[in-house]
Amino acid sequence: MYTDISYFWEGSKRYHAASFDAKKMFGERIQKISTDAGFSCPNRDGTKATGGCTYCNNKTFNPFYCSPKKSITEQLTEGIAFFSKKYKTQKYIAYFQAYTNTYAELSVLKAYWEEALKMPDIIGLAISTRPDCIDSEKLDYLQKLAETHYISIEYGIESTKNETLKFINRAHSFEESCAALQMSAGRGIHIGVHLILGLPGESHDDMLNHAKIISELPFDTLKLHQLQIIKQTIMAKQYSENPNQFHLLGLDEYICLIADFLELLNPKIKIERFVSESPKNMIIAPDWGGKKNFEIVAKIEKYLAVHNMFQGKKYRTED
Ligand code: SF4
Repeated sequence: MYTDISYFWEGSKRYHAASFDAKKMFGERIQKISTDAGFSCPNRDGTKATGGCTYCNNKTFNPFYCSPKKSITEQLTEGIAFFSKKYKTQKYIAYFQAYTNTYAELSVLKAYWEEALKMPDIIGLAISTRPDCIDSEKLDYLQKLAETHYISIEYGIESTKNETLKFINRAHSFEESCAALQMSAGRGIHIGVHLILGLPGESHDDMLNHAKIISELPFDTLKLHQLQIIKQTIMAKQYSENPNQFHLLGLDEYICLIADFLELLNPKIKIERFVSESPKNMIIAPDWGGKKNFEIVAKIEKYLAVHNMFQGKKYRTED
């Protein structure tokens, strides 16, 4: 069937905004507070590969209060102090963001997770990881936590094309991403997926195909990021040596792509983010004129409205 815009929108959005459902779920604004527990990554320490994903520079992830030299409690306390001045938020989620946050024995992970959940204003955990760094033992434990807390796990799947994953040195396959999502589903754990648009070698059609493929996978929210060439990465070196290998998306081109992508996407999938927010001084290209996230989102929304496009407009299911 073709879905209709009235299928799920209660607000004025032409896409399924995760923020809208979060407000319904919690009844108030919730702020994620990043922490850096000092994990490594199997793609850096030689277990799966060395050098890491070619685009990765974890300095782009960490806010000033995050440092593995501080305890989880200290980082969360400083993060809450910072955000409580900015917003009237009363509740927080501990966001284990830097590197691969399930890359340790369960006993080590439990200690970090439990430390965070002991803090009075922390209502849950968001755990960012690779699809090849999860197992049923860790998921069983998270499932137990999810009975009393909000628990979210975010998988970086980045592309549905194994050729691309190989080129960017992800050192896992798309099939492993699918397996991780299947293993995580049905446990009361919120599942997020992270995808990068504009990776080398991917055409407009390839990227639209991602929308069709992921529409059939069991997850809740999607974070989309444009490819950025970040300083001190392998990709920065590749880009300086062979810029023709890259087609970096301009802002207008990205907005059109997002609109086309949304039309094909299952309307049940909630959109958590459309763009990456790397610090300006870390970005080599593309140059989007320093536009802020909210300005780009406003442009996307305007484009969708002008062209009468909405998420799921071209999504087909058998039912
Ligand atoms: S993006 Fe994630 S998986 Fe890749 S090198 Fe960086 S921390 Fe490791």
